Formats: sequence, C-alpha cells, structure tokens
Amino acid sequence: MGILKDVADLLLPPTCCVCGGFPDADGKIPYDVPEDLHLCFNCLSSLIPQPEDRRFFTCLSEPYEGDPHPELPLYIPFPYKGFFEKTVPQMKFHEHPELASFTGTLLGSYISKDNLNADLIVPIPLSAKREKERGYNQAGLIAQGASQVCGIPCSDKVLVRVKETMRQTEITDNAVRSSNVQGAFRTDPEFCLDGLKVMLIDDVATTGNTLHEAAVALYEGGAAQVVCCAACGNRAVLNAESY
Ligand SMILES: [Zn+2]
Repeated sequence: MGILKDVADLLLPPTCCVCGGFPDADGKIPYDVPEDLHLCFNCLSSLIPQPEDRRFFTCLSEPYEGDPHPELPLYIPFPYKGFFEKTVPQMKFHEHPELASFTGTLLGSYISKDNLNADLIVPIPLSAKREKERGYNQAGLIAQGASQVCGIPCSDKVLVRVKETMRQTEITDNAVRSSNVQGAFRTDPEFCLDGLKVMLIDDVATTGNTLHEAAVALYEGGAAQVVCCAACGNRAVLNAESY
C-alpha cells in the first residue's frame, strides 16, 4: 500500500484539504505549514490577522445586568472570514484534526506576539457524546497547539461539560443562546485553580456566551483571573467593543 500510495502521490499531488485545489509550490506564504497539511496558496493567502488594535474585546454576559465578571477580556487574532470561514466547518464536520492543530500553532504565535500570559490553558470541552461522534475536540487540539508554541501548560481535564447543549450556531436569538449554555460547565474538583490565571480557548467566538459561561465556572472553581481566547471571530469592530 505504501509504494502504491507514493506512486499515486507522484502522479496525483495531494489537493488542498480546504478547497480541493492543487497546492501551488511556488507561492510564498509567511506561515510554517506542516508537511502533512495540504493547503493551497489561495487558501493560505486568505489568512489575514486582525489589525493589532482590533484583537481585544470585552466578553459580556447576556443579559449584561448583574454580570459578576463585567471586565472579562476576550482576545481574537483572526476574523471569521477568508481562511477561517472555510476551515472552521472543515475542522468541525469533515474530520480535519490537522487543521485544528495548525490553527492552534497560529493562535499560540499570536498569543506570544501580543504578550498574553497565563498559568494554564484550558480548552472549551465538547460533551462526551459529541466528542465521540467527531473523534476529537477541535478546541482541545487548538489549545494543545497553542500551548506548544507559547509554552503555557494545557489541561483538557480541568473543565467539564455537564450539560448537552444545542450548537450555538443553530440559534439566532441571543437570549436563547445564553440560556442554552447556562450551567453547561463545571470544574473537576480534583484540580486546584486557586490563585491561577487561566487562559480559556475556543475555535470561534460568536456572541461570546459559551466562553463567558465557561469562565464563570473557572472562577467558581477558584481561578483568580480568566482571559478568553478564540482563534477567530466575526466582529470587525473597534478595540474593546463588547462581544
Ligand atoms: Zn485551498
């Protein structure tokens, strides 16, 4: 099989895992892409970070009144358009864990560049049922990739999803999105978070409700400070605008 595959690869070069096009070997890309990740020049050239002053937001609760953590920071280095509009569905629904790992290394390099720090990285967990269906948690792979680059240790055991929720992307009403994730997370009491600054990582921020709810669980579990990070988000807005 190995030889046959090598011959087939020679005759038919691997195609881009995002768009199906042929990778252009001559294109110069300012990113280190792993050898086993096939991305074409077109897809990679649509990978454009947010301007430096548009990466920091405040992650608000819905409703905002009575929010015990009104200043929760949310860091998003890439817009949910171009590269990520095409790759996030591939990560989630088309079995491309290698795209999630690559996204993690990108996120990690921006976390370092923008001097974000923490004691521990924690990904947003999937429910056990959904993780089994998909075979991996894309936020977990992103968090691991980021951890390897920026050197902050990562644990996917700290935060547990205790409520099966609908996909946030399937809900259009903000209040319903908020109640959908309410009480969805808790921390594992085996882990002591007392005094720690925790960096919470997800793939996409839409309303920020999921990140906010998970941050509340981390605070309840003893975290001293939480900073939320998403690889991409769909709000091209002014610095520190609420999310
Ligand atoms: Zn492509």
